[in-house]
Amino acid sequence: MKRTTVKKALSLKAGEELVNLKGWVRTKRGSKHVSFIALNDGSTINNIQVVAEDAISEEVLKIIHTGASLSVVGKLVQSQGSGQAIELLAESIEVLGIADPDEYPLQPKKHSLEFLRENAHLRFRTNTFSAIFRIRHAMTFAVHSFFNSKGFSNIHTPIITGSDCEGAGEMFAVSTLDKKNTPLTEEGDIDYTQDFFGKETNLTVSGQLEAEMAALALGKVYTFGPTFRAENSNTSRHLAEFWMIEPEVAFADLEEDMDLAEEMLQYLCTYALENCTDDLDFLDKRLFEEEKNKKKEERQELGLIEKIKFVAENDFERITYTEAYDILRNSKPNKKKKFQYLIEEWGTDFQSEHERYLVEKKFKKPVIITDYPKDIKAFYMRMNDDGKTVRAMDVLFPGIGEIIGGSQREERLDVLKSRMAEMDVLEHELSWYLDSRKFGSVPHSGFGLGFERLILFVTGMGNIRDVIPFPRTPNNADF
Ligand code: ATP
Ligand code: MN
Repeated sequence: MKRTTVKKALSLKAGEELVNLKGWVRTKRGSKHVSFIALNDGSTINNIQVVAEDAISEEVLKIIHTGASLSVVGKLVQSQGSGQAIELLAESIEVLGIADPDEYPLQPKKHSLEFLRENAHLRFRTNTFSAIFRIRHAMTFAVHSFFNSKGFSNIHTPIITGSDCEGAGEMFAVSTLDKKNTPLTEEGDIDYTQDFFGKETNLTVSGQLEAEMAALALGKVYTFGPTFRAENSNTSRHLAEFWMIEPEVAFADLEEDMDLAEEMLQYLCTYALENCTDDLDFLDKRLFEEEKNKKKEERQELGLIEKIKFVAENDFERITYTEAYDILRNSKPNKKKKFQYLIEEWGTDFQSEHERYLVEKKFKKPVIITDYPKDIKAFYMRMNDDGKTVRAMDVLFPGIGEIIGGSQREERLDVLKSRMAEMDVLEHELSWYLDSRKFGSVPHSGFGLGFERLILFVTGMGNIRDVIPFPRTPNNADF
């Protein structure tokens, strides 16, 4: 018999024909003559209630516990109880796999997120994590759908990179050299000519530089791949391995870049609202319960769904770094020395406390900050006429801080070369990149969206370790 998913079954009407459902037991309760089994197969957050009466032997029922996997054949009937319209009256149950209740870590009670992180291989089986990962899938699909509908080509940029100057943080080395007997040069350095690629290589921190090459021929491209950063920043917003979406558009200036970023984020929010209703309802209630445990002044004003709607429907605020600097310098928390890092000199980078002040207190909506001081941004960002700032933009989100970083790229060969010299980026290592400015150079722009930061926002979760299946962070690469 062909398997029917729980999602499908719950949408059907009661009927006489037999159906076969398979899934995992969430809970089992009952009396001598009837057992109620909540069965979930991951197709939806909702369980189907399996009713096992006399047709099912005592021996079978005895070995059914939370976590066991079952194949159930029966009829869909009108539910007697409240809470569901339809239930499955079992005619036969096959136990596919038992789960010993003395050993199975997930019991039908609330587990802490920390505990579930230590059991990341099993946490998919909880309501919260199955909801998160269905939404993560929906967002992946929506990203491709958005760019496809706008005529972008998806480009797979390399994961192993030979350039160590991508300018976005510390890298992980990739090498096959014998660690106990590393070949050395006469000067005593590691002899990478004997390594797999004949040179030093690392895991990529960004696909941007390669994506630019593609954009300068295909017009509109985007990457969606894993990126790696060996920063020892143990925060709730950083992973050592994360996924990034990086569009790159030829002939686009920073205004168009910001428009694209805003349109994309609003599209993704709308997509979630329209396509992840059950999972969002569940997470909305979950967040509401969490907030109740917080002090009043620390509670979020909007619920999860309200927050997503708000972003989908309202224009983002756009201000320059200098405007933001003025606001922050004159702000109450700065004057009262409440910020951990006080805003004094023009030119320093904003910390997450400053970004959150602007988004959550000052403007109460997403904010795009543009035209940052050149010294705190990468070499490839386009220099403004003032000689002090570059055409960069960061999109800041409530509860998250920076979700996107982007810029108009420097298309003028001489300016790019002098910026590289200023920032100690070696020309000979990036000769291929410079070629794009020698041959048919055009203005172009792009940005990077941290996929997990987006998922944090859409699920209302507080820790980035909970929105990627198997997180990689300092001292943590289990599973
Ligand atoms: P941050 O200042 O938050 O550390 P960044 O400025 O170093 O980020 P970019 O190099 O601009 O980040 O990368 C583009 C986007 O990738 C960021 O806006 C963010 O959404 C995401 N991102 C960056 N670093 C991480 C990380 N370690 N883990 C998860 N997402 C990240
Ligand atoms: Mn950034």
